[in-house]
Amino acid sequence: MDKGARKPVNYYINDVLQGRDGAVKEFVRESRNDWEYYHVPGLTKEGIVHGFFTRRSPAFPLKGHQAEAFLDAFSLSDMVALSQEHGTDIHVIGNGDRPVKGDGILLYKRGIAGVINTADCLCVILVDPGFPMVAIVHAGWRGTLKKIASRAVGMMTERGAATQRMLALMGPCIRGCCYEVGGEVGDAFLEAGFPGDILTSVNGSLHLDLAAANAHLIHGEGIHSICDTGLCTYCCDDDFVSYRRGARNARQMNFVAIRGG
Ligand SMILES: [Zn+2]
Repeated sequence: MDKGARKPVNYYINDVLQGRDGAVKEFVRESRNDWEYYHVPGLTKEGIVHGFFTRRSPAFPLKGHQAEAFLDAFSLSDMVALSQEHGTDIHVIGNGDRPVKGDGILLYKRGIAGVINTADCLCVILVDPGFPMVAIVHAGWRGTLKKIASRAVGMMTERGAATQRMLALMGPCIRGCCYEVGGEVGDAFLEAGFPGDILTSVNGSLHLDLAAANAHLIHGEGIHSICDTGLCTYCCDDDFVSYRRGARNARQMNFVAIRGG
């Protein structure tokens, strides 16, 4: 196991994440050209191309030919990234759409990557492999408190996705081990109806578990397969950019796309 890595958490696994051999589909770290990333190979094989990139991949914003190299590496035709603002705007991408600001991307067009950039915040990928339809959202504490993951699930089901087929993937983010928050942030989560166990007291300070908070939202929407990398960006500073460890402008890319197109 990598330095600082925790055991991956598989919340609420159902048969969507079980292969024919009964094994749970789990994240693996792989490389493709200049890109090193975590993905669930069983899902990639089903045509849902996705990845949570590490430090050994170009950081966002991409420079020069890096965007082209990214599209080539994953056989994609285009990508959409947003200026993220810790809100709940989620854009549905059709032909040639170029939204500028927002924190979520919903895609059913093939060959286009939805990209979310993070440094400690959580990236959640939502997939209905049977439609297919995918979404990717940026969930820091503000977006999580505003329930952006629930909003994304609602937008997908309004457009024909079915929660019983859907699954959620959670990328590396700052975890309950390291994410100290103020008491007012904790209170806001409790007032918004989140369960108390997303907060823990560590040596007298309050810690928030972003992944558990989002698992609570996603499970509440009726999705029972949630596959989490379990990786903490602060603990695994060698592998991931961490804002709380001093990264100011660099961001790690995360993406999802439906193969083809
Ligand atoms: Zn940690």
